Amino acid sequence: MARMNRLGVLPPSWRKGNPGRPPNHARRRGRYEAKTSTTTTRMSRKNRVMTCGNCKQDGHNRLSCSNPTAKVQPKRPRGRPRKDQV
Ligand SMILES: [Zn+2]
Repeated sequence: MARMNRLGVLPPSWRKGNPGRPPNHARRRGRYEAKTSTTTTRMSRKNRVMTCGNCKQDGHNRLSCSNPTAKVQPKRPRGRPRKDQV
């Protein structure tokens, strides 16, 4: 065995924590979300054409709809129709 008095085998000093393990969950999030603080996943409500749920026209809401209430068509049941339910 050679002399190893001067240079012993040391782990690299720059590495902190366990090798291969991501540093910290909270820190990881902050690093990427700091720049894009908000509004990356959200859509602004502006610049959005609202459609009336009553008469299907653009530019007004169902609450502010002046048209008489349209007939609400009954929704069809989704999926496979069942025989025994009739
Ligand atoms: Zn309407």
